[in-house]
Amino acid sequence: MENLRVEYGATTALDGVDLRVADGEFFTLVGPSGCGKTTTLRCLAGFEAPTDGTVAIGGASMAGVPPEARGVGVVFQSYALFPHMSVGENVAYGLRFSEPPAGTTRDERVAELLELVDLPGFADRDPDTLSGGQQQRVALARALAPEPRLLLLDEPMSALDARLRERLRVQVRDIQRELGLTTVYVTHDQEEALAVSDRVAVVNDGRIEQVGPPRELYDAPETRFVAEFLGDNNVFDGVVTDGTDQVSESVSGTATRPDGVTVADLDRPTLRVDSSDDGTLPLPVEAVGDARPGDRLVVCVRPERIRVRRGDRSVGDGHVAVVATVESTEFLGDATRLHCDWNGVAVTARTGGERAFDPGERVTLGVAPDDVRVVERR
Ligand code: ATP
Repeated sequence: MENLRVEYGATTALDGVDLRVADGEFFTLVGPSGCGKTTTLRCLAGFEAPTDGTVAIGGASMAGVPPEARGVGVVFQSYALFPHMSVGENVAYGLRFSEPPAGTTRDERVAELLELVDLPGFADRDPDTLSGGQQQRVALARALAPEPRLLLLDEPMSALDARLRERLRVQVRDIQRELGLTTVYVTHDQEEALAVSDRVAVVNDGRIEQVGPPRELYDAPETRFVAEFLGDNNVFDGVVTDGTDQVSESVSGTATRPDGVTVADLDRPTLRVDSSDDGTLPLPVEAVGDARPGDRLVVCVRPERIRVRRGDRSVGDGHVAVVATVESTEFLGDATRLHCDWNGVAVTARTGGERAFDPGERVTLGVAPDDVRVVERR
């Protein structure tokens, strides 16, 4: 997709989308409701003609190519099975524009596909006697029937309950791998996106914010939006200072500092967090070495990277201790999420599920400079 634009009257649904999906890749578009995920998929499928920009599949421009000639299979959010046809007939419908592979009959191909989606022997059933998850697997079999070169999945699990969704996404991923099928998957569920994808594009307001493998997006968000969208991140705005009192005073009048002083020259580079009276966070010099005292940064700290100690305690070598008060806790089974107040700044931390904390309790939060990720410089 190159510079893809879609306008609906005054609404800009896609505002210049550039994406390249590799052969055999499981590629996911994730973003909040209304950001343009479905519109992107519709352009790929050929249900939508872009206002501007191009779509190419396998190197060939798709301009003017109708959906059925693009070699794409699509599964939508709603199961969209034909209720008056049996399961087998629904799957066979996927073959209406093509022949079954050489040496196979239509019935054999249908049986093979039902086997693939783990519904052997379901051919004669009525769709309305199937569970939601089973119906969605029939829809997948139908989309796979003509051996598409590209599979498009638009929130295929969103109508299903959480456990079924997890099971089905693993199944879809396994089938995708088995077939080596290039797949573009749309979801608003960030956890799902991180769990199944080779690469993820985070979409915001008709634009791509960042593209990369799940771990890279999670560990190194490049924009505030990505940092906030993936996981329950702590995002802080602030100004670069030296952690020692003497220097931080002179920093407040940065004009008096000789030019050329950078974070790397400071004894203890820290971020003075905006909404806090005297809250400072350590800064990793390597990540902000050429920033100047007085520069504005947005940084993030993952809740699970914060060490939590009861009371006023040392937190270990290289960690900076921040004393906070527990406001509320959430027991998550394998972890406990702590919502804390640190000098008026909300901080979320995550600890092992076996440790209980009470609201009102004082805790020491340990933050290592390397765990403070610089997201944006202003
Ligand atoms: P969701 O997760 O809620 O499905 P999405 O990210 O898939 O959202 P799109 O369906 O692509 O979002 O819509 C992007 C924007 O374009 C939205 O603001 C939407 O209201 C608008 N839009 C989509 N289709 C049309 C249409 N046919 N006419 C007018 N506006 C539209």
